[in-house]
Amino acid sequence: MSQFKVTKQIDFCYGHRLLNYDGKCKHLHGHNGLIEIEVASDSLDSRGMVVDFGDVKDVVKGWVDEHMDHKMILCKDDPILGLLTDIHEPVYVMDENPTAENIAMHIHRQALKAGLDILETRLWETPSSFAAYSSISGSAGGAGVDRE
Ligand SMILES: [Zn+2]
Repeated sequence: MSQFKVTKQIDFCYGHRLLNYDGKCKHLHGHNGLIEIEVASDSLDSRGMVVDFGDVKDVVKGWVDEHMDHKMILCKDDPILGLLTDIHEPVYVMDENPTAENIAMHIHRQALKAGLDILETRLWETPSSFAAYSSISGSAGGAGVDRE
């Protein structure tokens, strides 16, 4: 079976640290992240498109700019959270450990919630490491990521 696929890339900057992890990523640090949003379809719309790249950008970049860009992405259990919020530093709080896998999942779910019928969200944490979250049941999860 043939299928069309398009991918939109979106850049953002974020900080994080991982709990219960014995490595460099247990300390506060930042990344220049690259998001890839993949949309697939068996057929094209009347314009000859799977989806308008601009629509993907508007939805995903809009949400990421507001909620994650230039913010510390932290687990709700991270003890530094109270300190940062006390001094009004911008944070994005998640129930899970803020790994590339979980950040990709949050972005993916927001895009779905906004009505984008996306197949997969990849988060490149470094130029050589990405994690992916996919809508297809059974394939959700990520590629291996070197923590840096
Ligand atoms: Zn990191």
